[in-house]
Amino acid sequence: MGSGVAGLHTAWRASTHGEVLILTKRTLFDSATAYAQGGIAAALGAGDSPDLHRKDTLAAGAALCDTEAVEVLVEEGPARIRELQLAGARFDLGTDGRLKLGKEAAHSRRRIVHAQGDRTGAEVARTLVDRVHASRRVSVLEHARVLELIVERGRCAGVRASVLGQPVEIRADATVLATGGCGQVYRYTTNPVVATGDGFAIAHRADVTLADMEFVQFHPTALDTPENPLALVSEAVRGEGAVLRNAEGERFMVKRHKLAELAPRDVVARAIFNEQKRTGRVWLDARSLGKNFATRFPGITALCRARGIEPGEQLIPVTPAAHYMMGGIVTDLSGRTSLADLFACGEVACTGVHGANRLASNSLLEGLVFAERVAREMGQAGRHAVPRRPRPFDVPPLADRGAAQVAADAIRALMWDAAGIDRNSRGLRACTRQLAEIGERLTGGMTEERNMCDTAMLIAGAALARRESRGGHYRSDFPRAKGEWRGKRLEW
Ligand SMILES: Cc1cc2nc3c(=O)[nH]c(=O)nc-3n(C[C@H](O)[C@H](O)[C@H](O)COP(=O)(O)OP(=O)(O)OC[C@H]3O[C@@H](n4cnc5c(N)ncnc54)[C@H](O)[C@@H]3O)c2cc1C
Repeated sequence: MGSGVAGLHTAWRASTHGEVLILTKRTLFDSATAYAQGGIAAALGAGDSPDLHRKDTLAAGAALCDTEAVEVLVEEGPARIRELQLAGARFDLGTDGRLKLGKEAAHSRRRIVHAQGDRTGAEVARTLVDRVHASRRVSVLEHARVLELIVERGRCAGVRASVLGQPVEIRADATVLATGGCGQVYRYTTNPVVATGDGFAIAHRADVTLADMEFVQFHPTALDTPENPLALVSEAVRGEGAVLRNAEGERFMVKRHKLAELAPRDVVARAIFNEQKRTGRVWLDARSLGKNFATRFPGITALCRARGIEPGEQLIPVTPAAHYMMGGIVTDLSGRTSLADLFACGEVACTGVHGANRLASNSLLEGLVFAERVAREMGQAGRHAVPRRPRPFDVPPLADRGAAQVAADAIRALMWDAAGIDRNSRGLRACTRQLAEIGERLTGGMTEERNMCDTAMLIAGAALARRESRGGHYRSDFPRAKGEWRGKRLEW
């Protein structure tokens, strides 16, 4: 289920063991994967090693990573990158023909593999879609929205889906949820519109175990425009000297952190969020770069110009935005979930590699590494899919789109205000109460909004239960990490 890096890689590799069907909600290219800019982290450079990558990943994860899963990620990552190159991925190369490796915040070495500068995800998606198309054993159903898992005798026997509005039941020996994240439950997000948290909600309704749902990563600087999703303004712009100013023109980050604009993501995101509340709009001031801006950041320049902003001459309006879900469906090192014959990989899974905070560029890598393991394990899966006459079921009639939009907007506003960057007990309690009320008003046809509401409830519930601050989770009523929560994961 899903056609991002995780779903496509699984399908390609599992096709060596048998017939594979990909179901995807829109087209093969509609995924967060296709949006990814910066790149993929892997210890491939001189002077780097899996051990250094492991240390950086564990440091970002704030004592909540699964060390075995991190070991797998950093040890197997380099092989997955080389394999992708052999499969046709055109990553950027230096004049010596070796991979050009970028450096990103909190990485102690240059280890970010990228393509066409900031179009890495699109290149990964293109390569994997080519592989999938080349395989005669992979079929694809686009515009196929998974609604629920079929659970029989304690095993997952497949899914029920709406394919172009028609009910379709699919039986399988092994089912893989690779449905990505849930940024769309927040008012401001960089995630594509397909990221409504379907996989989390579908799994939860089937009693599959989830964990770490309170850990959401917010990117500090998305372009503040009335769009959904919001375009990303890379950290690299601040790295080149751009500064943040509040509505009064003050450079507020200097007072907040010794690294000012280059402080960790969660610190900068929280500072911007608070300044927005205190003074109004927040701006990125890159005027010191002048004409060089367009040469150094052609992609961002194009994004800004298309919205009437000349980034080297004018202030750029920015806002933090929901970017990545660290938690999800709990899996073992082979992607197995708590339900037999159901696997999960990619952003929807919780392998434990990110802990409480993801190290930049580790998510595409996680998708590749664990999809490979899932595909291998599927080769061992028994034959359980009993061909049966499909049980008739109805796809609920299309909901009133206006009412559905109102419900979605209400969820997104609630989550942004109470379960976003700055949380507290009072706000979270009110949020869960109001989410329950919205849930009661949803009609049968509002399946996506139901998934948003259920996923939002999981996030808010987990955020309420964790009475401390750690990684991406900040509680203003418990602003410090606590010893008793160290290494403790909340399961649902
Ligand atoms: C703007 C942006 C920039 C990023 N930059 C980077 C980066 O530089 N490096 C990095 O490592 N990570 C980056 N990330 C994060 C990374 O892109 C994602 O975490 C990763 O691509 C997730 O891959 P995935 O396969 O799990 O999910 P996705 O790529 O999101 O794919 C999920 C798929 O599931 C489908 N789907 C969802 N629900 C259903 C359903 N009910 N039925 C059927 N199909 C369904 C979707 O349509 C989609 O095809 C970025 C993310 C964003 C949004």
